[in-house]
Amino acid sequence: MKRTALVTGGTRGIGGGVSMALNDAGYLVAANYQNGVETAEKFQNETGIPTFSWDVSDYQSCEKGILNVCETLGGTIDILVNNAGITRDCMLHRMNPEDWAKVISINLNSVFNMCRLIIPSMRDRQFGRIINISSVNGLKGQVGQSNYSAAKAGILGFTKALALESASKGITVNAVAPGYVSTDMTEAIPHNIKESIKTQIPVGRFGKIEEIANTVLFLADEKSSFITGAVLSVNGGQYL
Ligand code: NAD
Repeated sequence: MKRTALVTGGTRGIGGGVSMALNDAGYLVAANYQNGVETAEKFQNETGIPTFSWDVSDYQSCEKGILNVCETLGGTIDILVNNAGITRDCMLHRMNPEDWAKVISINLNSVFNMCRLIIPSMRDRQFGRIINISSVNGLKGQVGQSNYSAAKAGILGFTKALALESASKGITVNAVAPGYVSTDMTEAIPHNIKESIKTQIPVGRFGKIEEIANTVLFLADEKSSFITGAVLSVNGGQYL
C-alpha cells in the first residue's frame, strides 16, 4: 500500500517542490496551504496533488483539515512535513507584538498543532516520518529576524525532544535547515542585500527548491530509519 504524506504550505516554493518530489516517488500526497487559492488550484491542476486550505497556526482548523485529508486520501498520515512559514522582518527595537506573535504562531505553534494531532496514529501504527523545516537563521541568528530565528530555533529543540519520545515507536523526527533558496519568500529581499548574502555562500549561489526537496525525500524514506533527532543543513556551506 502507498504511504501517505501531508506537506504544510505544500503548494508553492519549497513545500511545492517537496510535494512534487514525494508524489514522483510514489507517495499519496496532500498539500496544505493558506491564501493563494489561484496558485493552489494551478498547482493541483498541473500536478494532480489534492490541495487543502487551512491555517496551521490554529489547532481546531488543523484538526478539521487533517480529518478532511485522511478522508480524502483514505488513510492516516505516514509522513508529515511541517514546512509552512512566514517572515515579518524588523529590528527588535521596532518590532510590534503582533509580528512577534504571528511568526511564532505560524512557524512554531503550527509544528506543535500538526504533530500533536498526528503523532497518536503514528504511535498506534508504529511508523512515522516527521520532517520539520527550520532555517540556517534558526542556527545562527539573523539581524531583523529575532521572531523568525526564535521560531526556527524552537523547532530544533522540539524536533529533538519528540525524536526521543518517538524513537521506540518506529517514528523518526528530523529537521532540515535550508540556507537561502530562491522562492517568493526570498523574492522580498532587496537585490543589493541578496548579492551581499551570495558572497557569504561558498557554493556561490542560492539553493534550488529541488535540493531541499531531495533532502526531505531522503529523510522520508523507510530506509532512513536510523536517522532521528538530526538537523540536516542544506546551505551551500554558508554556516557549518
Ligand atoms: P513561501 O512563502 O514560498 O511558501 C510558504 C508556504 O506556507 C505557502 O504555501 C503558504 O500558503 C504557506 N503558509 C503560510 N502561512 C500559512 C498558514 N498560516 N497556514 C498554512 N499554510 C501557510 O516560502 P518558502 O520560501 O517556500 O519557505 C518554505 C519554508 O522554508 C518556510 O518554513 C521557510 O521559513 C523555510 N525556509 C525558507 C528559506 C528560503 O530561503 N526560501 C530558507 C530557510 C527556510
